[in-house]
Amino acid sequence: MLYARTMSATDNLQDIRQRIAAAEKAAGRAPGSVRLIAVSKTFEADAIRPVIDAGQRVFGENRVQEAKGKWPALQTATARIELHLIGPLQSNKAAEAVALFDAIHTIDRDKIAGAVAAEMWKQGRTLRLLVQVNTGEEVQKAGVAPGEVDAFVARCREVHGLAIDGLMCIPPVDAVMAPHFALLAKMARRLGLASLSMGMSGDFETAIAMGATDVRVGSAVFGERPPIA
Ligand SMILES: *Cc1c(COP(=O)(O)O)cnc(C)c1O
Repeated sequence: MLYARTMSATDNLQDIRQRIAAAEKAAGRAPGSVRLIAVSKTFEADAIRPVIDAGQRVFGENRVQEAKGKWPALQTATARIELHLIGPLQSNKAAEAVALFDAIHTIDRDKIAGAVAAEMWKQGRTLRLLVQVNTGEEVQKAGVAPGEVDAFVARCREVHGLAIDGLMCIPPVDAVMAPHFALLAKMARRLGLASLSMGMSGDFETAIAMGATDVRVGSAVFGERPPIA
């Protein structure tokens, strides 16, 4: 999908908000039940500030280092930003991640669960935590295999003492999305987990129809990103 260059990020934001509201209504879900995470990765502070000024308070980043470089200056006393880590986490970055973020969507192995638990304890912080599931079982992709999710969530709770709030997935790029979203929703229901982080710019309405509570929308708000080098 192409986004007209003449549309500003704030226009895009209004448009996405309306589409989310319409999708909530169409799915018979309560207004405001879906959290919009504006994914600001690769965009500089100057591109992000107008979106904060337009009232957006929840943002997503996929790299700890990049987020650390730009977000402290964007946090203001009057508008506290809720920051979500949606990219892979290395255990040697757990301390920085726990200090900077309010939520981590990519808990996917014991080493990370243990490091995050230790840092939350040490720093006296409680983050909202989601387990990433590799619904497409792609070899190169992060996330717990669908068949391992129940055991991993149980270990997060019992071994690491972590309260897991939900599940997250990034389906294969060229997949039909609905079966992936349905699978994630089914697993979350079975495990009694409240949150479902699924749906991006091209498919957030489908995700909302299938129960998404957190949609991660980047390019439809900020415009196309330069291709990854
Ligand atoms: C970049 C990214 C998004 C946003 O993608 P868009 O297609 O630009 O909306 C969502 N989720 C994750 C994990 C991402 O890395």
